[in-house]
Amino acid sequence: MDSTHFDCTSCGKCCTDLRLPLTFAEATRWIERGGQVDLLCEAIPWPAEPDASNAYAAYKRARTFAAMSGELPVRVGITLAATFSGPCPNLGADLRCGIYTERPLVCRIYPAEINPFYAMKPEFKLCPDEAWQAPTPFAVDGVLMQADTRDAIDASRRADEASVEMKRALCERLGLQHASVANEGFVVASPERERLLAALRDVQQDAREPAAQTVWTLVSNRRATVDTLIEVGARGTMDSDANREGCHYLGL
Ligand code: SF4
Ligand code: SF4
Repeated sequence: MDSTHFDCTSCGKCCTDLRLPLTFAEATRWIERGGQVDLLCEAIPWPAEPDASNAYAAYKRARTFAAMSGELPVRVGITLAATFSGPCPNLGADLRCGIYTERPLVCRIYPAEINPFYAMKPEFKLCPDEAWQAPTPFAVDGVLMQADTRDAIDASRRADEASVEMKRALCERLGLQHASVANEGFVVASPERERLLAALRDVQQDAREPAAQTVWTLVSNRRATVDTLIEVGARGTMDSDANREGCHYLGL
């Protein structure tokens, strides 16, 4: 039996220098509390529908919307992310969360993984060694032991799937049309807070179909990627050009 033991030591490391993925409702509340939310935009080239048995593709498909980049079909994924340097604005001097009962789902889930295709690996987590030496079993044979963590993961996945059309509508309202090539980096859009708040509220009330298909431009910091995109008829541009369009590129 393969078990992972873990107990949070409240060290606060996972509450510092973050881009914290949020649901629509969480992003709205985050801005209302005075926080900053960015949009991380990426696109997966999707020239043909993968086989129905491809579970990973199905997972990605359910969290992205179909779009075009020139002649190349893509699927665009948008992550709403609370962004802060240094401690989270909700982290107290005593390292306790000031919005504990209302904290985002992702804060309830860490250090577990939301993506079912990622295994939780202590070496990739910020938690100190002693957290992993606790007597409490956290996962046994890959199954999380705590029902509230499992529930939070389910809620996060459901919220992600349910918000795809709202994300498409949000991009249209904000005029976003640049995305990274998935797995290379992200295009980070940082709309002014009040404008983003208004757009978030707007699309939650009315996520109508877009009037016209946005044609997306794919951004990379790799010349070879941009050249390949252009060869296959996509719109591709180097990150230095995208930076001039009111967003910036974050390479992985
Ligand atoms: S909301 Fe709370 S738990 Fe989440 S990062 Fe901020 S302080 Fe930490
Ligand atoms: S880094 Fe790990 S141990 Fe530290 S507060 Fe976050 S979850 Fe708890």
